[in-house]
Amino acid sequence: MVKTAKITPMMQQYNAVKDQYPDAFLFYRIGDFYELFNDDAIKGSQILELTLTARDKSAAHPIPMCGVPHRAVDSYINVLIDHGYKVAICEQMEDPKLAVGMVKREVIQLVTPGTTTNVHPGAAKENNYLAAVLPLTDGFAFAYGDVSTGELKTSILDDDFALENELQAIGSLEIVVPAGIDDDLAAKLKRGDRLLSVQTDDGEQHAEVSYTTQELTDHAEVQVVAMLVQYLLNTQKRSLAHIQKAQPYEPASYLEMDADARRNLDILANSRTGKKGGSLLGLLDSTRTAMGGRMLRNWLERPLLQPNKIVQRHAQVQSLLDHFFERTELADALTGVYDLERLAGRIAFGSVNGRDLLQLAGSLEKVPVIQDVIGRIDDPSMDDYRELDPVSDITDLIHRSIADEPPMSLKDGGVIRDGFDAKLDHYREVSKNSKTWLAQLQADEREKTGIHTLKIRYNKVFGYYIEVTKSNLDLVPEDRYDRKQTLTNAERFITPELKAKESEILEAEASSTALEYDLFAKVRDQIKAQIARIQKLAASVASLDVLQSFAQVAESQHFVRPEMEQTGRDINVIGGRHPVVESVLGKAAYIPNDVQMGKDTDMLLITGPNMSGKSTYMRQLALIVILAQAGSFVPATSAQLPIFDHIFTRIGAADDLASGQSTFMVEMMEANEALSHASKRSLILFDEIGRGTATYDGMALAQAIIEYLHDHVHAKTLFSTHYHELTALADELPRLRNVHVGATMENGTLVFEHKMLAGPADKSYGIHVAKLAGMPQELLTRAAKILGALEGKEQVKIPVSAPDDKPTATAAPIAQQSPTPTPEPAEEADDTQDQQLALFDVGPAVP
Ligand code: ADP
Repeated sequence: MVKTAKITPMMQQYNAVKDQYPDAFLFYRIGDFYELFNDDAIKGSQILELTLTARDKSAAHPIPMCGVPHRAVDSYINVLIDHGYKVAICEQMEDPKLAVGMVKREVIQLVTPGTTTNVHPGAAKENNYLAAVLPLTDGFAFAYGDVSTGELKTSILDDDFALENELQAIGSLEIVVPAGIDDDLAAKLKRGDRLLSVQTDDGEQHAEVSYTTQELTDHAEVQVVAMLVQYLLNTQKRSLAHIQKAQPYEPASYLEMDADARRNLDILANSRTGKKGGSLLGLLDSTRTAMGGRMLRNWLERPLLQPNKIVQRHAQVQSLLDHFFERTELADALTGVYDLERLAGRIAFGSVNGRDLLQLAGSLEKVPVIQDVIGRIDDPSMDDYRELDPVSDITDLIHRSIADEPPMSLKDGGVIRDGFDAKLDHYREVSKNSKTWLAQLQADEREKTGIHTLKIRYNKVFGYYIEVTKSNLDLVPEDRYDRKQTLTNAERFITPELKAKESEILEAEASSTALEYDLFAKVRDQIKAQIARIQKLAASVASLDVLQSFAQVAESQHFVRPEMEQTGRDINVIGGRHPVVESVLGKAAYIPNDVQMGKDTDMLLITGPNMSGKSTYMRQLALIVILAQAGSFVPATSAQLPIFDHIFTRIGAADDLASGQSTFMVEMMEANEALSHASKRSLILFDEIGRGTATYDGMALAQAIIEYLHDHVHAKTLFSTHYHELTALADELPRLRNVHVGATMENGTLVFEHKMLAGPADKSYGIHVAKLAGMPQELLTRAAKILGALEGKEQVKIPVSAPDDKPTATAAPIAQQSPTPTPEPAEEADDTQDQQLALFDVGPAVP
């Protein structure tokens, strides 16, 4: 090709490598720098804030270039990964000084958002999951794994909805897909800026792949796991001995929650800030280890369904609560345990140093302490934790082999302990003795020659030599000394004896470093062979950590042990609280509420004005359910709960529902998920369903939804509404009950008591509030009259005074068509129903 003829050999090499990684930034090592060229340089210099220069500036087509120093490369890579890019690291594979021709270079790792093992400070308690999706004729094969911990799971998912739920639950940033998936699916998978990476089947069957798929029986699961592991191997380009056998799971074997529910309930992150603070996890996390932190997330993401397992966790929390001193000791011991899972990962990766191994040993040494503490808790619930494997053979090995204060780098020596290896000890002895030997030689030579200023010195070019100043040259024994170099005022000599010693010293040093490296690698390999044991221990330690955290929180936040109804469906929560709102408001300010839904009640219809606490009440129940099924105690005075299979929510933040059609569509789709998938063991929270459309349209829908849920679904449902008219449904639907939020007047201000009371809210609440806002009396009277008309009491035709009033004219008949008895008009409000609301005396009765 004419074009390539002009390119330098180095750029030819660069281009050849870049062609293999078109979708990654190529970090190309040249000496102490990683250079980026062409488009990578232009884009990279902007993102990384680097100066853009050019190679061959004088040429007709200079090549854009920018570079980063090799020592700081990780932080630059992290920035690109955070922006959702991939980075291929291309290293010099030989010493440029020794290379013949072009220095050999190879990509040693492809870092991607889903495979990066650079854990950000603060993210130690989070997983970084890589997902893989394989479309099937019906549904998807799905897998996900964390390359830093070796966790690997797989499942078959029925539809798009289930897939999106899983992707959101694990918060994956990158999805591996086979070549040729259709655009429609690709667009769906890319939601939320997720990166799609294609893994073509390259036919190679690595040992890791067959190991990880060993326990799978479903062919599609085997395929999707193989695809994921193959992608890991292709990107990491090294041993992945820590990747565990894939565990099949079914989302339906856990309490299911759709993505909307997870978000709205602020389980792992606060939905407004996206941060852990202000979420259920933030409140609950008193874990002491990174592993425990990740396990807690996992338990909250996937609460259990099996009654015995749930009750077992409650019993464990109880026994830790009953043993305060042991629990404190346990927490202290856990504090000294480093991230065993990620250490194991780095051992497999080969990226550990001496200090990491000491951390591992120090952590393993806490195991006997933990075991001793558990031994003192005399309760069968803790039996699972009595026989932890402290992997003491590994601790011994590390203590025997690794020095007390090893350096960070493995290249400088000093990592291996004296006495571990005879040969190494010999080398070290040689270099230690050499100093004495040289000093002795200098003294001897001075005496023999009578030159008192004679010195033995060392430089890199000549090695060891004897230096004699000009004035003493006549005393030099020419027969023994060999002249090497002449300087202005001195001459340098060597002797065969000195040279022999020199090669002994240098050889010892070089061999010593090489030997240390080998010895370290052997130690590491011996530990690598025990990774499965370390991982098993890590899982137990993590669970214990979550349990002690549950106990700690139960104590500090005054949670109680819930009683689980194994077969029935009755809910009986007394004095329930929303733990996060409570922690924000303070214990004194939070008003506890009961939720009592026995056999006769499947649905609570909650009425009350904005900001009175309806959605807090609904969320509170969901959080109590999630906590209980995750194994935690719950924020209440007492709680009897059934085991729910699924929580469906449609909770919009007050102003989340802009009037757009699409938003209403989303609302209806979410509602439909519940209508079509909920069972009588599900929990449904519907907040203000129907408010996204015109009033009567919305009200009609809301009513029909309530009737449908009541008659066909039978799930326990909390339904909050603005439509006061719906409260009359209680007369028609036997398992629906009205509740409302109480309020009082204090010094002329309306004060919500946040207390749920039986019965419907006062329908003229809006008018009360308008009166408080100081609206003219005439207007209030008019509003009360219109209200009466709307409710069909007064059959007078209300003159339309403003275009805004229009819907009212058509609205009245719909209200009349309602199958339910018409509620009372405002001015005739039944003051026995809610004494507090009756305090507001509005309408025609106002003087
Ligand atoms: P709604 O859904 O009726 O509009 P919210 O549930 O959003 O009202 O509650 C509004 C605010 O009222 C909350 O942000 C909280 O500060 C307060 N609140 C809600 N429930 C309680 C409670 N039980 N005790 C004290 N304050 C509460």
